[in-house]
Amino acid sequence: MATVVNIDLMGDLQKFGAADVNACFSCGNCTAICPLSDNDATFPRRVIRYAQVGLTDELLGSKELWTCYHCGLCSDSCPTQADPGEFMAAARRYAIASYEPTGLARVLYTKPVIGTVIAVLVAAFFATFMLTQADLGGIDAPELALFDFVPNDVVHWLGIVVMAAMFLAGAWGVVRMVRAIGKRDGVTLKDTVGSGAAWKRTLGAVWDSLGIESLGQKRFRDDCHDDQEVEPLWRRRWLVHALTIWGFLGLFGATLIDYGLELLGIKETGTPIPLWYPSRALGTVAGLSLMYGVTVFMIGRWKKWSTAQADSKGSDWLFLSLLWITGFTGFVIEVALYMSAPPAWGYWVFLVHVAVAMELMLMLPFTKFAHAMYRPVALFFYALARERSTAGA
Ligand code: SF4
Ligand code: SF4
Repeated sequence: MATVVNIDLMGDLQKFGAADVNACFSCGNCTAICPLSDNDATFPRRVIRYAQVGLTDELLGSKELWTCYHCGLCSDSCPTQADPGEFMAAARRYAIASYEPTGLARVLYTKPVIGTVIAVLVAAFFATFMLTQADLGGIDAPELALFDFVPNDVVHWLGIVVMAAMFLAGAWGVVRMVRAIGKRDGVTLKDTVGSGAAWKRTLGAVWDSLGIESLGQKRFRDDCHDDQEVEPLWRRRWLVHALTIWGFLGLFGATLIDYGLELLGIKETGTPIPLWYPSRALGTVAGLSLMYGVTVFMIGRWKKWSTAQADSKGSDWLFLSLLWITGFTGFVIEVALYMSAPPAWGYWVFLVHVAVAMELMLMLPFTKFAHAMYRPVALFFYALARERSTAGA
């Protein structure tokens, strides 16, 4: 099949932040120094080369984009200041925008002012819609439970619509990514489920991707030595990253448990429950973990603690801000819930919390949050390549 060359690729990538990569003269220093580059995934020089010669399909099919954790070591050692670490981050943004079908991610990444306006409008839309359904007259009545301010059914169905839209756009993107990586790496469906040995390799790769790497952060923790020796433990990037992920997953789990308790009739929506209840205990610990991770990330970007944090884009701030607002308002609601009568401000904080949380989920396939979908898929292909090369497949 003929190779398609996209002469606009490099210019397009520069719109996503790969500003200096034209200076690259392919010396290979960056690949030699990158602690995560190996025979199963060599980068960043190879991916930069794809961009320089206009190979869009190869670029979008590079699992290597997502096996980089943006430590910045390669940028520090580049003799021409081509900033390969930032190139990898820009290429990930480009990939997110290319996988999703609507063009929204491209606007969010390349037009930060319009992106911010869209983000505000989406949150305002959710808040306004819920306000039209809210019991405004009941705010001064002490018997109005906090979560009854907006009828449960409205929040419930709005959540289902948002999750369905997020799932559709996310699934579209993941399918495109899987096809792109599978084509470049020569992996077919038969290679993954065509025999008992293939199934074994696939299950091993799933465990490696989700368990060892995504949850355990093994390579980030053990191999990325960018900050291990110099940074205090509390701000090491792998730990802050892990606490953010664990916090988010814990909150998701707490929501499911809470929902289960309601279905079983053990508790009613919005009623204060003791801190030792499984959903409350998990939610509180997970919320603290998320808030810690996001806050340290924001401080790190603000103070430019490392090369990787020195060049933050509007899209980085948007994602972190949405996560932070969701976590913070969640704790404020928790305080309001335990007061003898819900204060008036509690209802408004509840409205902001739900609107921003809905926005966060709806925007998942279009923002930096999309890492949560794409990185595990890429890590799966990475682990599969290693399993196949070990087995000589
Ligand atoms: S990005 Fe820098 S270190 Fe890497 S190949 Fe190009 S010039 Fe060499
Ligand atoms: S930023 Fe770090 S992990 Fe990413 S390519 Fe450079 S050295 Fe490797």
